Formats: sequence, structure tokens, C-alpha cells
Amino acid sequence: MISPFENVPVEPSRESIDSSKSEAVELLAEFADKYDYEHFSFESLYLYLKSFRTEILSGGNTINLDIDSFSNQELEDIYQSIDAKLEQRRRELIDNVDMETDEGRLLSSESRLWEMGYDGKVKPKVQTAVLLGGVHGDERTLPEQLDKLVRHNEKTRDFHIDHSRVYINSKVNVPALENNTRAFSVDKGQLSEDADLNRSEISDSYTAGIKNELLEEILRLDKPFVLDMHNDRETIDPHAVIIGGEIVGAVDERLLFKIRLAMELGIGRIIIADPEIAKGTMISEVGSRDVDADGMVIEVNTDDKKFESAKIALKFLSGAGVVNDGRPSTQVMMQKELESAFALPKSEGEVEIVQYSLNRDIDRDLSPANPVMGVEYMVLNGFPVVIRKLKLDGQILREV
Ligand SMILES: [Zn+2]
Repeated sequence: MISPFENVPVEPSRESIDSSKSEAVELLAEFADKYDYEHFSFESLYLYLKSFRTEILSGGNTINLDIDSFSNQELEDIYQSIDAKLEQRRRELIDNVDMETDEGRLLSSESRLWEMGYDGKVKPKVQTAVLLGGVHGDERTLPEQLDKLVRHNEKTRDFHIDHSRVYINSKVNVPALENNTRAFSVDKGQLSEDADLNRSEISDSYTAGIKNELLEEILRLDKPFVLDMHNDRETIDPHAVIIGGEIVGAVDERLLFKIRLAMELGIGRIIIADPEIAKGTMISEVGSRDVDADGMVIEVNTDDKKFESAKIALKFLSGAGVVNDGRPSTQVMMQKELESAFALPKSEGEVEIVQYSLNRDIDRDLSPANPVMGVEYMVLNGFPVVIRKLKLDGQILREV
């Protein structure tokens, strides 16, 4: 007689999961060692690690594992080995740089604006990172995405930030954010152009107060570089950047620094704005008060589906060396965590997975484009599972 339960997968024990995972981590470490650092970039290293797949036989189960099956803590040894290799590579690159080339000249420049990157390119080095969001209350992708990342990090504890060299304020204009308007006058109790933080003469006293306090905070810092993140409905490119406070055509080291930084952050379109246009912006305000202060405005699409705002912000902070004590593997860790933080379901409700079984043969795609609701599988406690029944707020969403 055929048992009716024959095809029901048996959940493996915690012990067999743990031993499968440590076996897989060793295989992943061997795989990571084979990466070709001659063609290193953070993206290519991440994609390489992401291509790792292994099957571990445990009891009656075949357990499929890849990099998303592990927490960053479980990958710590691999990250340490990446750190060591990249630091070694950078030392060699510095030793071999030709000082007669443009790159060599930048590296030896007195300005100390540059450093050698792990890929052999000379990179802009931000002294003190200032990250701003929510200057306009209806431009919310950075504040919302950072909130999500912070909540995610409270669970995973993957990132720590050195707050002595960074100032982050993603909710600059609280009244405008609360009312979801570009500007908001507390006195008038309504949207008002007089309360636009990006104006040079602000007649609304409450808004002028917010701006003065913010400028004081920033100008207290040593060589602050401000990344002021906005949204733009008109932007066709995935993201564009306006570099404020520079005259078109004045190609100096500072301008080169900003262009290289924008490229480093993955900005697709760079606009060099006339100082007249930039007047009143945070960048222009800090620049006019402190010659060592500088920055750029980033405009990300309003419907930031690919969470570019968070990506750009994290790249900026990690490039400044203030995330996880500046260890190079942070960028790989970041990619992984961004994907997992933003792969969570959009609903505010509680998702209850009623039944699940092991994922046997599905090539998982947990990209943010595939929210959990739409796929049949997910990672649960660091383990790939097939979802048989899914409930949201008591209502059955899916049943196989
Ligand atoms: Zn704006």
C-alpha cells in the first residue's frame, strides 16, 4: 500500500541543517578563493559569490544552499579572507603606480582628496560624510528606505557606523514630511512656497530655524561633504545628479573629485549646474560659509523601485570608510543585505507561513522584483523553503 504521506517532505532536524550549512560554508570559502582578483570590482565579486550553488545530502533530504542561505555572521571567515586579499592587492597597486600618469599625480596631490581603490583606480576620499534626506517633504525614498534598513539592521546587526566622522539626517524637514508636501508652513498650517528649505531667503520663520540649526550642525564638522538626496518625477534616468556650486567649464580638482565620486556611487547622469541655479541649496549654503565644505545633490526617481536611494547612501558612507571600520568586504555585505532587506513583503500586515517544506530544485530568485507574495519559496531562518500555505492578517494568500 502506498502511504498517503509518501510525498510529504520531512522537515530536517536543526542539527542536520547546521551540519549541512557548515559543510556548505567550507565549499563557499574554497569557491571564494578562486575569484580572479586581477579583474576585481565589488560588483563582479558579489555576482561571483552569488553564482555559488551547492547541494548537500542530509538524511533523506537534498538541501540546496547558496550565499543567501547564510547570515553575514556565518560568512565572517570568508569576509575576513576577502579583506586580507583586497588590502594586500591595494598595497601592491600603490607600490606599482606610475607617478607620471594622471592617476599617479592625483594620488600624490597635496589635497589628500584621493586614495588608491582596490581595483587600481584612484578614488575620491570623503573626509566627513554628511547624508541628508527629506529636505523636501514629498521626496521620501531616502527617509523611507533608511528606516527600513535600520529596522533590518536591528535584527541582523551587520552594520555599525562610526558616528564621529559622519552626520546623517534623513528627515531634515519634519513638518513637510509629516504632511507629504514639498514645503510646509507650520504658522500657516499649509503648504507654502515660503517654507521651501532650498531657498536662500526663507521668510517662514520655523523653516528658517530648521535650516539654521542644520547648517550649524554641518559646519561644526571637519571638511564636510554633503550628499543631499532628493526625488525627481521628471527624471528619466534611473538616477541623475546635479553638482551644485560650480561654474560650468571650471575644471579644477574639486570638480573632478565630485564627478569621480558621482561615478563611484553609480550615478548615470551628471549635471554641472550654474551656481545661480544651485543658490539656496544645502550644498551652496555650506560651501559659501566654509571653503572646505562641499557636496552634491542627488535626484533619484520618485518611484525608486530598485532602492537606489539606499544603495547610493550606503555606498557613500562605506566609501568614506565609516561603515564597519572601513573594512573592504563591507561593500559585498551591503549588496547582500540590501537585497534581503528590500525583498521583504510590502504589506504592513503580519505574514504567517503556515506550512513549508524544503526547497529541492528551484533556482531561487529573491530579487526585490519578486516579493515574497509572488514566489513559491523564500529563505526562512537562513534556509531555503517552499511555501505551501501563506497567511496575511489571518487571510490565506496562497495554498498549494
Ligand atoms: Zn527636492
